[in-house]
Amino acid sequence: MELKRIPDPPITTDLVEAIRAFPVEREVIHCGQPFHVSPFDFYADCPACRSRIKVRALSAVQEVEDVFDAVFEWLNQPGAEASMRRRQQEIKADADET
Ligand SMILES: [Zn+2]
Repeated sequence: MELKRIPDPPITTDLVEAIRAFPVEREVIHCGQPFHVSPFDFYADCPACRSRIKVRALSAVQEVEDVFDAVFEWLNQPGAEASMRRRQQEIKADADET
């Protein structure tokens, strides 16, 4: 059986490393006070002044966050999450061995 594939886009080592190193939260400073939000949030509410502030760019330029969003969208398909969980366990097992 031949696997049908879409053409591979250029994926640089820098991109893969940027995903690996991607922080799980983003620090935002407003009113001189730092607070943390999800790195995928577009807006956050400042705990001090209650202002709604933009914390993620809404530009046409693709960012690492957009790669995550594409993966999250992919994960919405039936069966995708099970595949992810299986692969996560393999990756964790490999990391535990070393
Ligand atoms: Zn504020």
